Amino acid sequence: MLQPSLPEIQIVPRDLAPYRRGNTGIDYVHRFDSGRPGPHVLVNALTHGNEFCGMVAATHLLDTGVRPLCGTLTVSFANVEAYESFDPARPFDSRQLVHNMNRIWSPQWLDGPEDSPELRRARAMRPAVLEADHILDLHSTSQAVQPFWVYPRRSPNARVARAIGQPAIHLVMPSGLGSGVPLIQHGAHGVEEGAEGEGGVALVAECGQHFLRATAELATEVTLDFLAHFGMIDRGPSPGARGVVQTRVELLRTVVVRTPEFRFVRPVVGFETFDEGELIAIDGDEEIRSPCPTCTILMPAREPIPGREGVYLARPLPD
Ligand SMILES: [Zn+2]
Repeated sequence: MLQPSLPEIQIVPRDLAPYRRGNTGIDYVHRFDSGRPGPHVLVNALTHGNEFCGMVAATHLLDTGVRPLCGTLTVSFANVEAYESFDPARPFDSRQLVHNMNRIWSPQWLDGPEDSPELRRARAMRPAVLEADHILDLHSTSQAVQPFWVYPRRSPNARVARAIGQPAIHLVMPSGLGSGVPLIQHGAHGVEEGAEGEGGVALVAECGQHFLRATAELATEVTLDFLAHFGMIDRGPSPGARGVVQTRVELLRTVVVRTPEFRFVRPVVGFETFDEGELIAIDGDEEIRSPCPTCTILMPAREPIPGREGVYLARPLPD
């Protein structure tokens, strides 16, 4: 089988041992209380072990001594164990050790009988996630595509992502992922919004390709804009405030790979569009076809693995 070529590694993972001892009783979780009223914001990195951009943004906050002007700031590194398994010869393998740490944030998994490095870590981090009013979870993509937000369809999420304005593309989830519960839908953040449209914000920022310097730079920018949005730091106007044009698409289906024969009908990296009914991929005897006009595909699997996600199918949303 033809092996995809290895990407350039522009960001070298650094030793996170100095960040292990936080002040919350949970390893790799740091908290700064301003002593003033305000929201509790969580900036989380490394939910996936090889998504280095979050590590760069989180260490930036800690190294530069950012302290919130109001409320409480928590900075966390999630799957450090997977991160520490990084091997530049197999750079995609350290995404996770056993479980996808971004699909296990349900009581079924967290209170269930199974065990894995990811489940142990999620159980340890659970209080920090539950205590946060607003969450920014920093991620990156295997392919070098445009950065984008991912968030449940709750009006506070859309409002804040739009106000920040970068990334300029929004992937909205009307009813979750369909393949597990991500960190940003744990606890109160996973509840359907009330009539007032209020509640906590929880966003994933997919900042670009895992190993590119530009991805880490964007993650840092987005993090600072997120903190500025909640009044925690002083910063100039965000791209959203400057009127940057934004595009929104809505998740229709998460395709999970069923067989080792899964393949796309042509090479794809994400953001390709398909006409209604057009063939996108074949998985054994299943044909995966576009369910709508101008279907956008996102995060196509670089190397499809049965049981893991193959691709997201999304339709355009009116602005
Ligand atoms: Zn990720």
